[in-house]
Amino acid sequence: MNFDYTAEQTELMDSVKRFVDFRVEPQMVDTERRNAFAQETLDEMAELGLFGISIPEEYGGSGLSHLSRVLIHQMAGRTGFGFSGLLASHTGIGTEGLVALGNDEQKRRYLPRMATGELRAAFALTEPEAGSDAGSVKTTARRDGDRYLLNGVKHFISGGAHAGLITVVARTGAPNAKELSVFLVEPSFPGFRIGPSKFETMGCKGHPVSELIFEDCEVPVENRLGPEGEGWAAAVTILNEGRPLVAGRCVGACERLIELSVDYARERRQFGRAIGDFQAVQIMLADMQTRTEAARWLTYKAAKLSDEGRVTRRDTSMAKLFATETLAMAADHAVQIQGGSGYMNGNPVERFYRDARITRIYEGTSEIQRSIIARSMLEH
Ligand SMILES: Cc1cc2nc3c(=O)[nH]c(=O)nc-3n(C[C@H](O)[C@H](O)[C@H](O)COP(=O)(O)OP(=O)(O)OC[C@H]3O[C@@H](n4cnc5c(N)ncnc54)[C@H](O)[C@@H]3O)c2cc1C
Repeated sequence: MNFDYTAEQTELMDSVKRFVDFRVEPQMVDTERRNAFAQETLDEMAELGLFGISIPEEYGGSGLSHLSRVLIHQMAGRTGFGFSGLLASHTGIGTEGLVALGNDEQKRRYLPRMATGELRAAFALTEPEAGSDAGSVKTTARRDGDRYLLNGVKHFISGGAHAGLITVVARTGAPNAKELSVFLVEPSFPGFRIGPSKFETMGCKGHPVSELIFEDCEVPVENRLGPEGEGWAAAVTILNEGRPLVAGRCVGACERLIELSVDYARERRQFGRAIGDFQAVQIMLADMQTRTEAARWLTYKAAKLSDEGRVTRRDTSMAKLFATETLAMAADHAVQIQGGSGYMNGNPVERFYRDARITRIYEGTSEIQRSIIARSMLEH
């Protein structure tokens, strides 16, 4: 498998890296304080075409390959995970369902405005009682003439409060069966509201999570995505597409942590020498570099197999599992290498340490990834 970057990919990565390093990162302390990105940052993301990377050209996007999208997320991972999370919620789990399963009319209605960032997208699967066991969602959708009435609560939905279109998974069948369906919900639909629960997260500042409440929420039949009752397969497809993006963000974060750690190890002197001269510090650096390389190739492999239409859930789960656990190690080592300074608010390594923690939880916990991988081994 050849992973050489094309000239177009190199150019793309350079331009996103410049934007992230020189426009987004300098604002992160302020963004964390306000828990919101400046409108200017969102406007610049739109100018760069970042909102449209997963949307086909015929609907106004750039229709990039999975690998190119992963490379963009890798560059986005160099700053706060609120930023790369905002990008991933929109271009990944928020958009994948509509692109993969939508009919032409649905795509024409929403995708052009999603490609410009005018409509931001979110994906709502998780509920207070349905997390890892996502097939047990309790939100119901009952057909009533030419509409469905949705009832239930979703929580921890990234970007839910700012979304213009939300892909919602709800139950259309019996309580114990995986008879789910997927709906495209606009926040203006009667019966929809943002819930009162305020979730203060450890990290990922700037891209808060919300509670979404559906009370006889009226969703037109034409907003059902795919056939009724086939929502479980749709949710699996959406999550499967999203996992390499999480992995790509982690690889980019590891690369940034390595840069920060090498610089610090060269400059910081103790016992009359640079701390990089001590073998204990070298071991941490070597482990960060080696595991990041391994995470990169697993991630690129999953993306490339997606482009070739032959990716399996095992590939995407292995990439997500390994890259997220590598980031946990890299963030921990980066703090350790900087000693007390690494523990101070405002230091990027402290922020990465907090941000890293979520990646082993959302879009399927590490335990769920291991279970997917092991089941695929036992089945074959
Ligand atoms: C910041 C943030 C953003 C999020 N964004 C979104 C979003 O945009 N959309 C969305 O739908 N959801 C989102 N989520 C929800 C997220 O996907 C869930 O939190 C996650 O899937 C875990 O579910 P849970 O929190 O209910 O934990 P639980 O499922 O209750 O798990 C608790 C623990 O039990 C373990 N466990 C559970 N089942 C098993 C099993 N079978 N085998 C082994 N171990 C198991 C888990 O691995 C975990 O360690 C977000 C969450 C957070 C915190």
